Amino acid sequence: MADELKYEWGDGVYTLLSWFKQDRVKNARVLVAGAGALGNEVVKNLALFGVGHITVVDFDRIEVSNLTRSVLFREQDAFEHAFKSEVVAQRAREINPQIQVEAIVGDLFSDVGFGIYRRADVVIGCLDSRLARYQLNRLCMRAGKIWVDGSIENLTGVVRVYAPGVSCYECGLSREEFNHIMLRTGCADVVRTQTSAGRVATTPVSASVIGAIQVQEAMKIIHQNEEQPAPFKTLAGKMLRYEGMSCSVNTYNFSSWKQTCPAHERWDSVRECPKLSASLTLPQALDVLKQELGVEAVEINMRNNKFVDVIISDRPEKEFRVMVPESRLDEVIKGDREMRQLSYRTLFHKHFFENLDADFPYPDLTLRQLGIPPLDVLQVTTSKGQFFVELTGDL
Ligand SMILES: [Zn+2]
Repeated sequence: MADELKYEWGDGVYTLLSWFKQDRVKNARVLVAGAGALGNEVVKNLALFGVGHITVVDFDRIEVSNLTRSVLFREQDAFEHAFKSEVVAQRAREINPQIQVEAIVGDLFSDVGFGIYRRADVVIGCLDSRLARYQLNRLCMRAGKIWVDGSIENLTGVVRVYAPGVSCYECGLSREEFNHIMLRTGCADVVRTQTSAGRVATTPVSASVIGAIQVQEAMKIIHQNEEQPAPFKTLAGKMLRYEGMSCSVNTYNFSSWKQTCPAHERWDSVRECPKLSASLTLPQALDVLKQELGVEAVEINMRNNKFVDVIISDRPEKEFRVMVPESRLDEVIKGDREMRQLSYRTLFHKHFFENLDADFPYPDLTLRQLGIPPLDVLQVTTSKGQFFVELTGDL
């Protein structure tokens, strides 16, 4: 009995594979963006491989229709409308109790601190919209991380690996696709209520084929080692297309890297600051930053979110005090009867703050309440120039 309790995951199994480095896999950090059909397959495979630290992010709840292709969901989860990321994390821990799996219910930009991207060995995209891919690509390029994108439709699936310096999602977009994304992010002061992405017809087989290939690519990236070249090729700069109808698999060159692309902005030389955390109020955080950087005044630039205090409807002209990060605005409008009804027939304009300094009028709010997630990296402007400072106290 004691022996059963003391075992190392993968011993005598993965250790038979010449390329498999157990300590690397155990120490690896993988961020999984999306906990739908692909996310289920991906997290299941990562857990089976014994990947030590998995973070899974999704804002959505489980519906009955998800059950047909999501191996980790159960009927009861749909009845309870449980959060996808939380259920995926819990089931992964049941599969492999020796790993750590953390769930984040929220959005890639505004609820996942940049420190999580910085610390990831690889990021896996299990997303269903271009806008989400566009956002994830920006974050991964900023952090200098490779990300493995998967998409499925009907009996077809595609895997692409985007690597800084080799290929970038934004560079590969056609003008039409780019305009479509801009329509969704669009004009800064007009409120856009998000239309939900159309449901795509897929099968559990497409999800398991593509999710499996994504994890295989991620395992290769975890094993990449400059001094000791590994015996495999990754899909970096290529795409793999699986056609279930004809049962064919092809790889194509798919590298696009334009020198002028704004997504390639790197946030390196991040200062880790254990005194900072998202639970501080703005004046507290500004004080720590001034000390840390040795300056008289600082300004925090909100790059991923804005803080909205008031929105104003066009017809009738009326002000609503909302006091939320922009990422929560849609939720707040839909949750209020009057605002929801107005949103069907008129536009809202918003009054927002994107730079936070000593003049900010709501000093009692914490960074979290302002839309800055735990372990995020702040972009700070000072008289000495610009700095990137991490809320390392949240670790
Ligand atoms: Zn690019």
